[in-house]
Amino acid sequence: MLIDSHCHIHDFDTYKFAISRAQGKARPIPEEYTPEKLLARAQENGIDKLICVGTSHEDSLKACDFASQHENVFWSYGIHPDEAERCNFDMGGASRGTPCARSAEGTSTLGDDSRQDPSSKLQHPTAIGEIGLDYHNSTSTKEPQLKLLEQMLDLAIKNDLPCIFHVREAFDDFFAVLRNFPGIKRAVIHSFSDSRENLEKCLNEDFYIGVNGLATFANIPLAPLDHTLLETDSPFLAPVPHRGEVDEPAFVKNIANFLAIHYQTTFEDVAKITTENAERLFKI
Ligand SMILES: [Zn+2]
Repeated sequence: MLIDSHCHIHDFDTYKFAISRAQGKARPIPEEYTPEKLLARAQENGIDKLICVGTSHEDSLKACDFASQHENVFWSYGIHPDEAERCNFDMGGASRGTPCARSAEGTSTLGDDSRQDPSSKLQHPTAIGEIGLDYHNSTSTKEPQLKLLEQMLDLAIKNDLPCIFHVREAFDDFFAVLRNFPGIKRAVIHSFSDSRENLEKCLNEDFYIGVNGLATFANIPLAPLDHTLLETDSPFLAPVPHRGEVDEPAFVKNIANFLAIHYQTTFEDVAKITTENAERLFKI
């Protein structure tokens, strides 16, 4: 069994965008990339659990909706740092009552009520994410990103949920913010692509590291298997031998294969360890 701990299959619009850019051998047919077809192909390929990761309030609700209709599909509530400027929140400093916080807290699935209501068809989220900081060509400037991250960390602590972090060229600021939130104990740094030094700092926090197709074609420092999660970030970052194609959760097995070769162990070993890691972190 394998887990795709980070995908965006609930968002067909993002898939259509990726399809328009794909350079793979066969021209992708959009109808083959509907959330239902992607999920079916994942299951046929031994990917038994998936986490649909939200990138905005609206997108998170879409992920919630899709997850609620399928067993073994989970979702996370997140607002990507790129959305920070579009998020019209109060710059006065209050994290409560601001539009971002309000919309997040207003999500019934995040409240205690839905957790206690077994009749609720809506699952509560598995994590808060993706959230973080992105200083690489982001559509948002630093200050709103930092404010948004703080709000999202508050939300994670309040709901006792692990975080899915997206951090790009921003680790110094990221660790500085984290120091003010000692309650953040459980997290994954998804799609890690930074230095070995920053990898070590993440591991010192006891965070997991999400490995996707990027590691199969770029020289990225890897975490020990006991701190590794498998992910795709599909529809982007298709692994070798699918580079240029539209990525999908079924390709998680290529990443597991890559790690098995890298660590000179078996595919089964990688599958078992990374699955247990994801189950432990997300309680799924
Ligand atoms: Zn993502």
